[in-house]
Amino acid sequence: MEKTSRQQFEFKAEMKQLLHLIVNSLYTNPEVFLRELISNSSDALNKVRFMQVTGEDVQSPKLSARIKIEVDEKEQTFSIDDTGIGMNFEDLTERLGTVASSGTMEFIRQLKDQKSKLDGNMIGQFGVGFYSAFMVAEQITVETRHADPKEKAWIWVSDGKGTYEIEESARTERGTRISFRLKNEHKEFANAERIKQLIRKYSNFVDYSILVNGEEVNSRGAVWHKNKNEVTDEERNGFYKFISNDFQEPMDHLHLSMEGRINFKALLFVPKKAKPDFFRTENLKSLQLYSNRVFVRENCEELLPEYLRFMVGVVDSEDLPLNVSREVTQYSPVMAKIREVLTNKIFGMIEYWVESEPEKFRTFYDEFGPLFKSGLNSDFANRDRIIELLRFHSTLSLDAGSGKSGADSGKSGADAGKSDADAGSGDKTTGKKKAEKKQQDDKGVGKKENEKPAMEDLVSLKEYVERMPDSQKEIYYLSGDSLEELKRDPKLEYFRKKGIEVLLLVDPVDAFVVPGIGSYNEKPLKSIEKADLDLEDDPDHEKQKEKVSGDALEKLIAVFKEEAGDRVEDVVVSRRLVDSAVTLTVGKEGMDSHLERMMKMMDQDMGPSKRVLEINPSHQVIRNMSRMQVAGSGETVRLMARQLYDGARLLQGELESPGEFVSRMTRVMERVSTK
Ligand code: ADP
Repeated sequence: MEKTSRQQFEFKAEMKQLLHLIVNSLYTNPEVFLRELISNSSDALNKVRFMQVTGEDVQSPKLSARIKIEVDEKEQTFSIDDTGIGMNFEDLTERLGTVASSGTMEFIRQLKDQKSKLDGNMIGQFGVGFYSAFMVAEQITVETRHADPKEKAWIWVSDGKGTYEIEESARTERGTRISFRLKNEHKEFANAERIKQLIRKYSNFVDYSILVNGEEVNSRGAVWHKNKNEVTDEERNGFYKFISNDFQEPMDHLHLSMEGRINFKALLFVPKKAKPDFFRTENLKSLQLYSNRVFVRENCEELLPEYLRFMVGVVDSEDLPLNVSREVTQYSPVMAKIREVLTNKIFGMIEYWVESEPEKFRTFYDEFGPLFKSGLNSDFANRDRIIELLRFHSTLSLDAGSGKSGADSGKSGADAGKSDADAGSGDKTTGKKKAEKKQQDDKGVGKKENEKPAMEDLVSLKEYVERMPDSQKEIYYLSGDSLEELKRDPKLEYFRKKGIEVLLLVDPVDAFVVPGIGSYNEKPLKSIEKADLDLEDDPDHEKQKEKVSGDALEKLIAVFKEEAGDRVEDVVVSRRLVDSAVTLTVGKEGMDSHLERMMKMMDQDMGPSKRVLEINPSHQVIRNMSRMQVAGSGETVRLMARQLYDGARLLQGELESPGEFVSRMTRVMERVSTK
């Protein structure tokens, strides 16, 4: 393509939407644009420094690395000029004009729903930092020349309204200059003092000199190279914000300086909150790798196992050669050693929280627990450490927390619909309040450090085992979509009545990792959905005279068997039911119903496992059925058996045809009411 004359290009559709939003909204924190531009310049300088130390030819090799900002109050203009890697034609059209992160569209949708002011801080989180300058400028000019001496220089101009123009430029030095006139309402950013003040706030530790109208303003120096006692909280937190684009302070950090067999320095942070697109692992930006202060690579995957990649920060090691390919670093023993040390330190930090700072542990567990737990399936060396850190809701903590006992389990179905939004949270906020709170949290406001419930609503396996009675041989759990749903599950009746604690697993990840634990402290972990539980006989139960038994029971079981057909593996007398007539459990080989549903959602349907139908011979309905059978109402008994079976499936979320269920119910009622 001939690129000499001016050409016009259109932004991609989603970029247009995003720009429309940026250009037409009011902001809090518009000053964020400055941090974003300086951060881009610093990245560009890192890249050119890397080219130079690895011996590549660069344009204008003598040029010193620096960022120059010029402001003119009278003209209301702002410009930032760096001697970094610059951009070629392709960078300008492909990288500058596209939305980098797949979370961005979701972000746009969220922002559109908020009619109030936008927080400029949020913009940087989505890899569209450059465009944040449209918060303060009508039109932006980018003049740039790539460090590759074969590339030409270009000028890019846009008003952010749908198109941009590119033409050749006469710039001879490598690097990039971004300039604009400030909107009237943002003319403060043409004031040199204001800019200096912001640089001290946001970018003080940038490793290149930043000049404002000719005067150097930052202190410089790689923070991670300093002695940790010499780094102030402010400096460290500022550095975190700079590399992570987070607008909140980090929750905690690790500053390491290892010397001896392996040499490296590291400054790692734990964010307070997972970014909105955090769980799309392709967007994970975890640790940056430096070699003796020279930036080598962003998001260096080899430095940490995937389940610890909630950590953000830098690792700097002289022991690694600079110009090595990914393949080499992947298998390098140095890298493996660094990874091992970091992993160990991170575990140490989390274990410390458990002992001494439970609120931090709670925040961490709520935000990053699902990722962290996935380590159970991948890091066998640290499996036991992860297992010790698992926390679950349980029937005991739930009952203690709500001030009610299991006795209300029969009633709770009635108001279940109302509080479903609360599910899984364990706190007692109403659904609506909770939604509001979540929205606030998402905006990063209104959240106080100690607002989260501490750990008392969650229990560790260790605590569970410590308080289980000698007679109990297994650790019981039940998994489901929400606490509300689980609370209503008839399978819990026996356990609640006998005061046996059952872990309630509501995080989808739990359903995948917990069955794999096998046993803890030689106590097998068992889903109470399983039919082969090692339950004690309930003497109360046995004593009850009024229950169907003997021949009558056999006959009734036969009816249930016929009605449920070969969809069930067996029909048996239940030892776990108290208030309900029937329930479905899982045979020896079967999979949890919850896990099965999730696999189905993920298109990994293995066909339903067969269930075992358990019936409660002392339940009034079962007793009535037995009497009716003797009295010759066999047909109604059949209908009722089918209805009870389908009702159990409905509770389990496994009933395909509610229509049939309802029409059968009507028939049963007809019969009963005509008597
Ligand atoms: P991000 O920095 O998160 O990738 P931006 O929208 O800020 O998102 O920048 C998009 C891309 O444009 C960068 O990844 C980089 O390739 C390029 N870019 C931006 N500013 C500069 C600069 N000053 N020098 C060189 N390249 C730049």
